[in-house]
Amino acid sequence: MNHRSDTTLCVVGGGIIGLASALEAARRNRFSRIIVLEKESEVARHQTGHNSGVLHCGLYYKPGSTKARLAVEGIRRMTEFCVEHGISHEICGKVVVAVDDSEVPRLRELESRGRANGLDNLRWLSPEELKEREPNVRAKAALLVPQEGIVNYSEVAQKMRDLLISVGHEVRTGVGFTGLRRSSEGQVIETSGDPIRADFLLNCGGLHSDRICRDSGNTPPCRIVPFRGEYFRLVGEGEHLVNHLVYPTPNPAFPFLGVHFTRMIQGGLEAGPNAVLAMKREGYHKTSFSARDALSALSWPGLWKFLLRYPKATLGEFTNSCFRSVFLRNLQRLVPAVEDSHLVEGGFSGVRAQAMKRDGSLVMDFLFQSAPGQMHVLNAPSPGATASLAIARHIVDQMVVE
Ligand SMILES: Cc1cc2nc3c(=O)[nH]c(=O)nc-3n(C[C@H](O)[C@H](O)[C@H](O)COP(=O)(O)OP(=O)(O)OC[C@H]3O[C@@H](n4cnc5c(N)ncnc54)[C@H](O)[C@@H]3O)c2cc1C
Repeated sequence: MNHRSDTTLCVVGGGIIGLASALEAARRNRFSRIIVLEKESEVARHQTGHNSGVLHCGLYYKPGSTKARLAVEGIRRMTEFCVEHGISHEICGKVVVAVDDSEVPRLRELESRGRANGLDNLRWLSPEELKEREPNVRAKAALLVPQEGIVNYSEVAQKMRDLLISVGHEVRTGVGFTGLRRSSEGQVIETSGDPIRADFLLNCGGLHSDRICRDSGNTPPCRIVPFRGEYFRLVGEGEHLVNHLVYPTPNPAFPFLGVHFTRMIQGGLEAGPNAVLAMKREGYHKTSFSARDALSALSWPGLWKFLLRYPKATLGEFTNSCFRSVFLRNLQRLVPAVEDSHLVEGGFSGVRAQAMKRDGSLVMDFLFQSAPGQMHVLNAPSPGATASLAIARHIVDQMVVE
């Protein structure tokens, strides 16, 4: 333990990663004062409150990557946290399906990845077993991932906020980070409220993390390019079409998993999300537009290289967003019984903070950048919420206060 009696940690971002990290630092007594700054009037207003609510266990990620390691540790810690604090969650299991022969080798590859990541209870379902568990799902092959589940991450984040406050630390909502200056006393964080002298700055600003990194005097190696994910709610008979989480076999070139069926902890069933290039970082509607955010994405050379490299996938996601019939067809690949009348456009969506490099490649792993007295979380997409407590441990392990 590295206890200091007069040190301040300033965390920018009251999403699940900022709050989990603040809580971990508090638990280890690393700082005498911890202040979390959140520009919105409440915590969890962006990615943490706009996601699928799935407890992912580490099936998809490259063995040896930080993501794989922290996802496996993360689901264990998150489940324990929910049990300890009485947060509703359910380990309902996931079925990943290959719908045609060409997807079967990719699903086998996914199984090997999962096993290499330590998931030794993955199981292939025979056609009879699949029929029994998921009578409406169509598949050439189906892999059962029994340890995955569902939770409401806003509720988790609110509990983290309450725990932090209960041990004497601060969560200042409605206060935004605006810059950093160095003075004879060290780093001073400029905010929309009072300035804060901080021994350590932790940037967990999600969709704005690259800007906060730059405004703290650094050069981020990538840019946040926002990808909006839209969901439909299933109603009537549609609500009872699946019993587990049902996912397609993903395209390994993308960090996005393809539209899937997700049961929700508060009840009901959702389908989505797609992954469409967005023109506003925190914009949740098809028409959301910010000149600053659009310019930021379109002036990034990587975006044009990305679009040239993946024109079909990008256009596919765009048509998936514009045409309800395309979205429906994608769902019917997995569950042919879904009908248009089952889908209600609830207006629910989320925007992913996806870091993209200058060469057009998407950053697939979690990405952290350190500077003296600072750490910046520059890429923490899915399964960032599941893994937040493990990410927090990783971050606090690496914090060095001079
Ligand atoms: C559509 C979608 C589906 C997903 N599904 C899943 C899933 O099923 N399971 C899973 O594990 N993960 C999922 N994820 C990923 C998960 O939601 C994220 O990994 C996680 O929420 C990231 O948390 P965060 O704290 O980094 O970001 P955020 O929750 O976005 O928090 C960042 C915070 O920083 C604040 N902020 C920004 N700038 C400033 C500033 N200047 N001053 C003060 N505050 C600032 C913002 O207001 C925001 O509250 C999904 C994400 C999306 C978008």
